[in-house]
Amino acid sequence: MQASKKAIFLDKDGTLIPDIPYNVDTSKITLEKGVVEGLHLLAEQDFRFIIVTNQSGIAKGLFTEDAIFEVKAALAQLFAKEGLPLFEGFYFCPHHPEGVVPRFSYSCTCRKPLPGLLEQAADDHHISLSRSWMFGDILNDVEAGNRAGCKSILINNGNETEWIDDGLYRRPFFVASDFLEAANKVVAYSKMSDYEPKAARINTSI
Ligand SMILES: [Mg+2]
Ligand SMILES: [Zn+2]
Repeated sequence: MQASKKAIFLDKDGTLIPDIPYNVDTSKITLEKGVVEGLHLLAEQDFRFIIVTNQSGIAKGLFTEDAIFEVKAALAQLFAKEGLPLFEGFYFCPHHPEGVVPRFSYSCTCRKPLPGLLEQAADDHHISLSRSWMFGDILNDVEAGNRAGCKSILINNGNETEWIDDGLYRRPFFVASDFLEAANKVVAYSKMSDYEPKAARINTSI
């Protein structure tokens, strides 16, 4: 099947929901400002949603994979409550090189800034990476998106503090101050880049 769908890859903590470090208490999960409106705008442009999140708390023994599946279910409920299309995928990296749970404690290829989660999701869901975007609140998200071949947008809400610039992968295509502004920028850009002159659509196979 052809990879034709376009997606927004969404970082979870600090992007979709406020970042409470290592939180898996579903009662504390709320959507960030502007997320509901922004996701509606993106859905109207036929973007699918895929959540991609580092969850090193699993390797560190702070919580289990089951807890993350509960977080995923809580997010799905929030999306449903807001009338949003359900995210098509939820991918997490449970690894960390300095973890304490042996089977998760190594240098993997899926922990952002590496692009493994995005590549796997694109493969599973027939997504065109070049038509897709990564939304994140730190430059590691930007790098993962760029390495995967997406465009990346940094929501500069104060969570990035180190600003390590490699002159290449860590440079966002756009910077926005909140989720809604990010969504508006991507919608405007994609309307422009999806535009085809009418002549190109003439059906010549009469
Ligand atoms: Mg984040
Ligand atoms: Zn990993």
